[in-house]
Amino acid sequence: MQPKIGILGGGQLGKMLLEAGSDWDLNLHVLDKSKDFPAASICTNFVVGDFTDFDDVVNFGRQMDIITVEIESINVEALEVLENEGTEVYPSAQVIRTIRDKGLQKQFYRDHNLATSDFTLYSNSDEIKSAISNQTLEYPFVQKIRTGGYDGRGVAVIRSEEDLEKLLSGPSLTEDLVDIDKEIAVIVAGNGKDWTTFPPVEMLFHPTANLVEFLACPAELSAAQTEESQNLALRVAQKLNVRGLLAVELFLTNQGKILINESAPRPHNSGHHTIEAAVTSQFQQHLRAVLGYPLGSTEMINPAVMINLLGEKDHHGLVKYVGLENCLTIEGVYLHLYGKKETRPFRKMGHATILAENIESAKQKARRVKQDLKIVSQTS
Ligand code: ADP
Repeated sequence: MQPKIGILGGGQLGKMLLEAGSDWDLNLHVLDKSKDFPAASICTNFVVGDFTDFDDVVNFGRQMDIITVEIESINVEALEVLENEGTEVYPSAQVIRTIRDKGLQKQFYRDHNLATSDFTLYSNSDEIKSAISNQTLEYPFVQKIRTGGYDGRGVAVIRSEEDLEKLLSGPSLTEDLVDIDKEIAVIVAGNGKDWTTFPPVEMLFHPTANLVEFLACPAELSAAQTEESQNLALRVAQKLNVRGLLAVELFLTNQGKILINESAPRPHNSGHHTIEAAVTSQFQQHLRAVLGYPLGSTEMINPAVMINLLGEKDHHGLVKYVGLENCLTIEGVYLHLYGKKETRPFRKMGHATILAENIESAKQKARRVKQDLKIVSQTS
């Protein structure tokens, strides 16, 4: 009999795990708050409940053989109970505990000699101001709240006294502002015996707006930089002893160093292109890993660019896709619409992967997709 796999979280990552699992007719179940969420539309075993609630997670988990997650902000105490009762939990409660708190995560890198920017922990923003006054902290620096931040929310760059009003409240860390040449990401998978690493992906920023415009694979790195980034990501995964995926975000500095920014023990935005562009998708690899199956090849089939499809500025409410058909005429474009009922400005509503002979031509096609496809509200 197929083991019952429970996924905590029914967003787009949960949905794409289900899609991958469907190929092998896996027995997948999802826990999340609403049947309006992306995964529910294709999940016959969707349980309505709150993955931050102890009882909901324990009750759901007790029905499962294996528990995995698409998000870190889940009830870890419940996972510990399930682990003690013999449920297989991947990533483990311990890994999630370490990673979901950026302070513990940075401390882990420091303790294990894994290259990351230097940092200090603070209980509140007043402590940061005192540290500046008594010159134990110098400008410029980056402040990050320890828990709950995502997509850049929860990160403040403080360059001078004028920026102090941007300081975030609550427990946080400050770290050196890195002189970044490139931002890259490497996804590692472990199945309990073997390890694989996907080729690095590069985040390409818009030249004027400070936003990631494209994710490109392969990244434009030397062979030595590629190897070093893959080795560093692999060491993080091995030291954490992750089972499943670990996505490691890295900085290549202008001085040529590779530093860890942060990690996530689950499928990741930086691996979406693998669905079409790699021999094995990150989602299938995650399922192979948690099931203890042999890991698949991480070789690329084609160069690829991935773009997130975001809700248009000023549009709130029930979603409408405009220009979809135009995009479908462009060769090599693969659209993934997550099925979120409502759009909001800049909400991740889907993604497109563009395969081409080279990154430049994939980028050109990606620009056409951005121009053609608009995600707006029905009332517009
Ligand atoms: P989140 O978890 O919200 O994605 P990150 O830690 O990845 O937050 O930070 C978001 C962005 O802020 C990074 O992609 C990078 O551009 C910038 N950033 C983060 N840390 C630093 C740093 N130490 N130095 C320079 N820029 C940074």
